[in-house]
Amino acid sequence: MFNIILFGPPGSGKGTQSEKIIAAYGLIHLSTGDILRREISAGTPLGLEAKSLMDKGILVPDEVVVGMISSALDNNPGAKGFLFDGFPRTEAQSIALDKLLAEKNTAIGVVLALDVSRDELLKRLLQRGLTSGRSDDTNETIISNRIVEYQTKTTVVANYYSKFDKVVQVKGEGTVDDIFNTLSSEIDKRLSK
Ligand code: ADP
Repeated sequence: MFNIILFGPPGSGKGTQSEKIIAAYGLIHLSTGDILRREISAGTPLGLEAKSLMDKGILVPDEVVVGMISSALDNNPGAKGFLFDGFPRTEAQSIALDKLLAEKNTAIGVVLALDVSRDELLKRLLQRGLTSGRSDDTNETIISNRIVEYQTKTTVVANYYSKFDKVVQVKGEGTVDDIFNTLSSEIDKRLSK
């Protein structure tokens, strides 16, 4: 198995690049944001709890997302590997993920960290808000909250995996194809090890 974390702030292009990576490498895409939005659409109790936090740009509790990921791993036996997108977002989530993967005799192969300037993130998210139907993309205060949540709670995830020499920083500005080519060459390097 080969498992990847695609890491970066909101608006850094994780969703776009995830689609290309899973198609190229046959991985299962696990986006906690997408799973949460599906729970909201289905009107589940979990969705209702998550919605009020997501609408403010605040992270949902660790145990909620860790539970979702744990079920998703169990529901995909025989997967070639997983691409984690928007997860883990805290150190506690990172530790929980490593434990879940170890139980399945696997681990994270590489953390690909997309680097994008704050101005570019704001621009992209406001642009996405025009068509995405995501209320958290339409308001500058909510977007700022998400960037602050990222800086205060999520950047530690990169530090955590740096200790295991698993993080590669990739410039997330440029064409979608150029960024994808850089990401895939980093994946290929680790795959051939
Ligand atoms: P983006 O990265 O563009 O902010 P996501 O779709 O990944 O979008 O996440 C949207 C919202 O869902 C976040 O602001 C947060 O409230 C919640 N969320 C998603 N993933 C997690 C996670 N791993 N831990 C906690 N909250 C999460």
